[in-house]
Amino acid sequence: MEQIKTLAQAIQHFADSENCRQFMVFVRWPDGTPKCPYCGATKLTWLAKAKVYRCYGDHPKQKFSLKVGTVFEDSPIGLDLWLPAIWLLANCKNGISSYELARDLGVTQKTAWFMLHRIRTAMETNSFVKMGGPESGPIEVDETFVGGKIKNMHLAKAKKKFYGVPRSGASGKAIVMGMRDRETRQVRAKVIPNVKRVTLQSEILKHVEKKSKVFTDSWHGYYNLAANDFVHETVNHLEEYVRGEVHTQGIENFWSLLKRGLNGTYVAVEPFHLDKYVAEQVFRFNNRATKDNPLNDADRFTLAVSQIAGKRLTYAELTGKVGETSAEPF
Ligand SMILES: [Zn+2]
Repeated sequence: MEQIKTLAQAIQHFADSENCRQFMVFVRWPDGTPKCPYCGATKLTWLAKAKVYRCYGDHPKQKFSLKVGTVFEDSPIGLDLWLPAIWLLANCKNGISSYELARDLGVTQKTAWFMLHRIRTAMETNSFVKMGGPESGPIEVDETFVGGKIKNMHLAKAKKKFYGVPRSGASGKAIVMGMRDRETRQVRAKVIPNVKRVTLQSEILKHVEKKSKVFTDSWHGYYNLAANDFVHETVNHLEEYVRGEVHTQGIENFWSLLKRGLNGTYVAVEPFHLDKYVAEQVFRFNNRATKDNPLNDADRFTLAVSQIAGKRLTYAELTGKVGETSAEPF
């Protein structure tokens, strides 16, 4: 993988089915040993022509492809197209349209749309592990309105000027709620129906461990969050944006990234699809290069495929520092 630096190289590399096989074995079985998904046997034969493994166990479905158990499984599209598509989506800054993907891969726009949709669905997969904890760093929580460019500016101004004015005034806009764990630097975000207290606080309960420090602004939807056993600190944006370690600037950075993507590439996002676009941006944000985590495009791509294929590689695993730590059944 080290030699691959560009999309063109990725397309060329994965045009070779043996390269696809080696890569998929690496992301799915980091110990390098493919296992039968039905019986776990490792005594397998690779049938290169049919691109399937054959198991000798006493069970039906003795042949399985490298796509089995992944989001690619039931599609006729080959890994030679899936893998470059993920490369593209994992590494572009603001997202990609189905028209661009169709052009780059030489497929129809309809196929490209299907592929993007499916990859985004996979990126949406939530972690069931809660963020935070009494010993962990704070969780920043905030919400933002997503809509047309001009209206967005109005809202941003309104938010600054008239903080405390009921946010339901922004009718017709989609609302995205986000949380950022300052310690792990991971973000979660999703579309929510309103900014009522019950909505916001039940999301926090769902995603954040009790006794965590939770930082929000002074919106009354967060009022009395401490009663739910969180250590709640607020910053009143009318008076201040930062009070010591209390601020929500990390999640606000994510909002600017999200909006740049929405205003640029995704000019018209139907509310129905917004969650998928949000998931895609979250994915890129959480896998972006940082000082401590200097990922390059090939690393980010490999992480993306491992997540989409149902197994999460960590950065340490990716760089070969540790062995396999988790194996989800597939
Ligand atoms: Zn088997």
